[in-house]
Amino acid sequence: MPMLGLGTWENDDHDQCVESVRTALEMGYRHVDTAQAYRNEDAVGEGIAAADVDREDVFLATKVWTSNLSAEDVHASVEDSLDRLGTDYVDLLYVHWPAGDYDPGETLQAFDELYDSGTIERVGVSNFEPEHVETAREHLDAPVFANQVEMHPLLPQTELREYAAETGLELVAYSPLKRGEVFDDPTLTAVADEHGVSAAQVSLAWLREKGVTTIPKATGDEHIRDNLESLSLSLSDDEIGRIDDIDSRDRQVHPDFAPEAWG
Ligand code: NAP
Repeated sequence: MPMLGLGTWENDDHDQCVESVRTALEMGYRHVDTAQAYRNEDAVGEGIAAADVDREDVFLATKVWTSNLSAEDVHASVEDSLDRLGTDYVDLLYVHWPAGDYDPGETLQAFDELYDSGTIERVGVSNFEPEHVETAREHLDAPVFANQVEMHPLLPQTELREYAAETGLELVAYSPLKRGEVFDDPTLTAVADEHGVSAAQVSLAWLREKGVTTIPKATGDEHIRDNLESLSLSLSDDEIGRIDDIDSRDRQVHPDFAPEAWG
């Protein structure tokens, strides 16, 4: 899985989203993250088709929304997603949240069937705590490839990172720029100034140093390019330590159906 992807939540103006995806792929991105709930799978598909990049070279991920998690709805909604995306497979299909119609036995059996038929190349989960991943592993024949969760220097997800390292699970950081708020943190801006780069790049490079894939959402050329350039930013051990020492905590995404432990 390419360690930097393009996020697309709220990139919901059709033509703009097509253009963002096309621009990112032609600039060098090879991973695009969408979801049924973002209502832009058709634009993402058009962007991939418009780019001068082969579909097979793009790592495409989507997510099944909480109201589509019965076995029947998983199959029907994924078929609709593929139609919208203009492809006959996705590289990664996530359960968007362990909520709504999610039933580990029923939902994951449908994911196993999609995996066995080659419709999805990997099974992912999102917003899962270790206990939810454990339960998913008990029900699935396919491996759980990745857990996509909110992660940035103000939500470092230490427990989840330890669990992922121990059990061979990839982590994908969503809202890796704290939804644009990384620019307000004095440590991140200080490290950014020392390198002459943006605080966005520092947050993305810190996550990469932790072995975590990031999917920052960016709409126009400038942000798309800035985030791509994070791949050439190396942070020193001292800088990583200073960022690790940030002790403010802030979670941006906490809907009322989130796991209870999120408080
Ligand atoms: P984010 O990527 O942390 O931040 C996006 C915001 O930062 C946008 O306002 C964007 O503006 C701005 N931005 C991007 N690059 C910038 C740069 N280099 N300099 C300054 N500003 C910059 O937030 P997110 O969209 O919440 O998370 C990223 C992706 O994760 C989503 O798009 C989605 O694909 C996924 N996600 C998944 C879940 C889940 O439940 N699994 C939840 C949330 C998000 P512009 O748009 O104007 O460029």
